[in-house]
Amino acid sequence: MTNSAAGKSAEIYERAMAVLPGGVSRNTLLYDGPPLYADRGVGCRIIDIDGVERIDFSNNMASHIHGHAFAPIVQAVSDQMQRGSAFTMATEAEVRFAEHLCGRSSNFDKIRFVNSGTEAVMAGMKAARAFTGRAKIAKVEGSYHGAYDYAEVSQAPGPENWGEIDRPSAVPLAHGTPDGLVGDMVILPFNDPNTAIDILNQHKGEIAAVLVDPIPHRIGMIPVAADFVRALRDWATQDGALLFFDEVITFRTEVGGMQDRLDVRPDLTAMGKMIGGGFPVGALAGSESVMGVFSEGNQGIRLPLSGTFSANPVTMTAGYVAMSLFDERSVRELNALGDYARESLTQVIRTADFPACVAGTGSLFRIHMKTEPPRNYREAYATSLEKRRLNHLISYLYDNGFMMIHTGSAALSTAMGRQEIDRLCDTIHDGLLSIKSQAAN
Ligand code: PMP
Repeated sequence: MTNSAAGKSAEIYERAMAVLPGGVSRNTLLYDGPPLYADRGVGCRIIDIDGVERIDFSNNMASHIHGHAFAPIVQAVSDQMQRGSAFTMATEAEVRFAEHLCGRSSNFDKIRFVNSGTEAVMAGMKAARAFTGRAKIAKVEGSYHGAYDYAEVSQAPGPENWGEIDRPSAVPLAHGTPDGLVGDMVILPFNDPNTAIDILNQHKGEIAAVLVDPIPHRIGMIPVAADFVRALRDWATQDGALLFFDEVITFRTEVGGMQDRLDVRPDLTAMGKMIGGGFPVGALAGSESVMGVFSEGNQGIRLPLSGTFSANPVTMTAGYVAMSLFDERSVRELNALGDYARESLTQVIRTADFPACVAGTGSLFRIHMKTEPPRNYREAYATSLEKRRLNHLISYLYDNGFMMIHTGSAALSTAMGRQEIDRLCDTIHDGLLSIKSQAAN
């Protein structure tokens, strides 16, 4: 199996273990053994340090919308680099990119840039608190919103601590998380409006924001239901709380993100990943009044926010090029490729007669080792048999020229076409048969 890295990757990993805890800076790279080391990426392909080429369906966790080393971005960034990479001055590149993003959604009156999705969510929670004067944040059980203490609560609970289905417990992720912080998080079940409203009603007047990812990856990559969003929007409006969308991954789904498709107006939206054109980025956009917490108004600056590298011109330039070229037509074509992928995979699973299914929408999909797509986090929670099967499939793909996110998820890029999907499907078919033959032995 390729993941038990041989050759140069194994050598580098040995060095890495001496200087990096666990040998990595990103825990997500630790999957079933040492990570592989990338040498270079070209379009939809990535070549590792041992010269093995794979078609990349993970795209740095859904952040390269045009694949690797996309020529227009390389050119624009190289030009910018000749003129410097970051200054204690604003740049026009920031303003141009802000104009572009605000132009994509009527929900974005104003925008602030930061350096990661984590920071964008953090800034959004703080902005909601500054705006409402309330402490609590409601989020959906199992959803991932980055590495900020509050956002991490109930990111990965298990049957031993998740509590009753209609009253999910707030479960800290990291050892040492302060109890007080956990007590400020209210946990809702996904796509269950009645229970969610019941829970929210117990915290009337206390909640600053209700945070929702409209296609939560860890919950199974099932789109949020329109009635769930509507219930949360109405409740927040009545209670004086804010609706906060995390579109760090899902902004790719429509020109103005999933909120376009759902026809809902969140007060705040976090973005990240693909909007940076391959560079570290985060952004928080929202209504004039809520975003006013960052600027001098009649209440003064309620939330000072700075970051040394925030809105640096390299990221702003790369992001502008990436997003300008991800226009309405491009979004539509990539979503159609996603439809093709989900249909083809469903067919392949049927032909292989394997207990698996495909979830997702737009240019995202996820394979579950379950016969039916899960409806919430608890259903998405994989049994040990399902985990073993998925690990087998992901390793099989690695060994046969493909890279996918280790949860069985994929994020397409405009550098791909039907040919790559067809090849992936053939390999997944063989991978599923190989799991079956292993089980038979
Ligand atoms: N929100 C969501 C929905 C995400 O998927 C992620 C990253 N996987 C984040 C926030 C955090 O983004 P970053 O890794 O850039 O901090």
